[in-house]
Amino acid sequence: MPASTHKTLKIDGSTGEGGGQIVRSALTLSMLTGTPIQVRRIRAGRAKSGLMRQHLMCVQAAQTICNAEVSGAALGSDAFSFTPQAVRAGDYHFDIGSAGSTSLVLQTILPALLFADSRVVDSQDVENKKSDASSTVTIIGGTHNPLAPTTDFLQHAFVPLLAKLGMQVEIECVQAGFAPIGGGVIKARITPFLRRAGMPRFELTERGALQSIVLCASVLNLDYSICTRELTSIKASLLEADIDEALMSTQSKRLDGIGEGNTCFAIVTHQLGDKNEAKATAKTSTKTNTHQEVFSLLGEKRSSAENIGKRLAGHIRRYLYDTDALIDEYLTDQLLLPLALAGGGTFTARMISEHSKTQAWLIEQFLPVAITFDAIDDEQILVRITC
Ligand code: AMP
Repeated sequence: MPASTHKTLKIDGSTGEGGGQIVRSALTLSMLTGTPIQVRRIRAGRAKSGLMRQHLMCVQAAQTICNAEVSGAALGSDAFSFTPQAVRAGDYHFDIGSAGSTSLVLQTILPALLFADSRVVDSQDVENKKSDASSTVTIIGGTHNPLAPTTDFLQHAFVPLLAKLGMQVEIECVQAGFAPIGGGVIKARITPFLRRAGMPRFELTERGALQSIVLCASVLNLDYSICTRELTSIKASLLEADIDEALMSTQSKRLDGIGEGNTCFAIVTHQLGDKNEAKATAKTSTKTNTHQEVFSLLGEKRSSAENIGKRLAGHIRRYLYDTDALIDEYLTDQLLLPLALAGGGTFTARMISEHSKTQAWLIEQFLPVAITFDAIDDEQILVRITC
């Protein structure tokens, strides 16, 4: 789609949550719709406003995959313009040059690459298109950052949710990278998305039984006993809250990479309630009939392993006991865009953050969709995207 046929969309980067997410999602939506954008007042309310290295990398990565015309994008700039051309599938390498989040750079270009080289195909063409338009993306930077999804979160929460929408992505953590050194490497393989006729409408509204809680802890060039202490602490705190021990399992590992770091996370899996199951067509895959949430924390110099474990258990307990919703805070804002692209649907959310509200507002600027948030009760909100 030639970009010049679209009117430029002016976006105030200080709207709503007003952080890096507006910049990243505006780039994604610009590429997907062929709409030129001018973003100004970038991260205006933040202590250090303007484009940081990770955001600049997002602009540059987006520019690379669609050969966009860009002006004004530099470190610290508070405005830039971006005129996209058609997104091309390919093998791409990006080096953030800092410990900036590889996940956030990937999430900027991933939806565009899912739709790369898109054209209408009949069903016999599906296999050809797969081999034509697949992409691989390698990104160097941080894999475990505060205030961003970790690679573990992407692998165990985001990617399985995309798969439910029919979007096939694989993510490998080749090397871990923590602040301040970074040096982590992730590699993603992206298969072009094709909406197949007869796909059931996406509905993740009802929680079934709790199926499992996998507790994981890992260290990068730090004492291995940190993992054991974190896992013992999380488990003790969950047992105190009467969570069935038979549902819990633990894993720990040493990560490869330079620098030092520690992370612990939990993969909490629920079966889907009967209402959702009735909507699912393929009951053969267990993944189709379950939902996975990931809660993660990073080790901190001034916090003991026991304390980190306790805090992580607190997040798990809040999700298990304070709400009946399926989708927690972070996955809610991250699901809105893929769901809008896949044709809409409904899900229950524990809370609607400023990130989610801002994301919904931005999506509606570009796509002919309506996104609504309706409280079901004090503990859950029904999110509906209609196209
Ligand atoms: P921004 O603050 O605008 O740079 O956006 C941060 C993004 O990171 C949002 O999409 C959040 O959902 C996501 N995020 C922040 N913290 C976490 C976390 N602990 N786990 C998963 N995602 C997170």
